[in-house]
Amino acid sequence: MTPQNLNPKEMLARLVAFDTTSAKTNIPLIEFVEDFLSSHGIASQRVPSDDGVHSSLHAVIGPEGVPGIGLSGHTDVVPVEGQNWTSDPFTLTHKDGRLYGRGSCDMKGFVACILAHAPKFKACDLKTPMHLLLSYNEEVGCTGVRPMIGELGKRLAAPRLVIVGEPTSMKVVDAHKSIHGFETHVTGKESHSGKPHLGVNAIMAAGELISELTRMDEELRARADGPRFDPPYTNIAVALIDGGSARNITPKCCNFSWLFRSVPATDPDEITGRFGKFAEENVLPAMKQVNPDASIETVRMTNVPALNAPEGSPAVSLALQLAEANETFAVSYGTEGSLFEKAGFSSVVIGPGDIAQAHAPDEFIEESELVACSDFLDRLAVYAESN
Ligand SMILES: [Zn+2]
Repeated sequence: MTPQNLNPKEMLARLVAFDTTSAKTNIPLIEFVEDFLSSHGIASQRVPSDDGVHSSLHAVIGPEGVPGIGLSGHTDVVPVEGQNWTSDPFTLTHKDGRLYGRGSCDMKGFVACILAHAPKFKACDLKTPMHLLLSYNEEVGCTGVRPMIGELGKRLAAPRLVIVGEPTSMKVVDAHKSIHGFETHVTGKESHSGKPHLGVNAIMAAGELISELTRMDEELRARADGPRFDPPYTNIAVALIDGGSARNITPKCCNFSWLFRSVPATDPDEITGRFGKFAEENVLPAMKQVNPDASIETVRMTNVPALNAPEGSPAVSLALQLAEANETFAVSYGTEGSLFEKAGFSSVVIGPGDIAQAHAPDEFIEESELVACSDFLDRLAVYAESN
């Protein structure tokens, strides 16, 4: 296959054209990337999901048997359903220095930069290899990257540090909050609404549980124990609710989804523990008096740890050097960086684009951000030639 050379903008247009909403397959995008890399003599390996619908991709550019610098990006994007777009979300549209398209900012912009750079890395005499670490299903709880991390140091070459290119406007991010998502299922008992004493109203029980979450949210807000973050506290939110069948029937079921984003100083177990205790002691006993089978079950859906890079973190030091910066930042969104760090790979978050445009309709990235990221990768190549 003839090697293609694409600049970051051309590469971004190709990537955006694949609708890789998390629930859909990312395999066509992965095939495109494999072909592109192999046309430049770069081998890559897949880490497929169990059902084969998704795959991660791991590629090494440079010497083998040497721990490399991981360049990590997710290939999935959030849905466009219900959003008002002025252009086709899956056609990269250039207007006034901005490139519009789903994922342009979060985070196909970074993926485009590292892929467009791959032939340049290949042409360098790298002492330290580059490891491309492309994942899936980041947007649904960072689930896709976990099997690939599990293979690092086994089937796949392990990096010595990881740069996660989530949009930070090319600022060096060394800390982020943890994310904990849950579904709570409340089961009561149906009855005629004229005979409420014969039923157990699951929605009203859920209301009590939600009130407790609201009280905890207010307390955590007042605690303000994360001064580096915006907002500077742990927050709890109920985001989805579903229950009942008719106005004149006591509802048997109510399910709600909730989530909290925790600053490192807050103990997540404090929140889950208090919620569980409240359900058990304050809500369930009255339900069980009418229906012994009544229940409140909470299932954990998301668990993304916090990133809190230690003093002297090799990844943070390198990012500061390459970004020609001397200040680090903390953010309120989760990334795969915390999972790499937890697995023993020093990690930092820095990438093109402003998180304010992520997940929004008419998502865009400034063209200048792609240029800034490419300059960063040029400096990284120079570094890796001599270190
Ligand atoms: Zn992202």
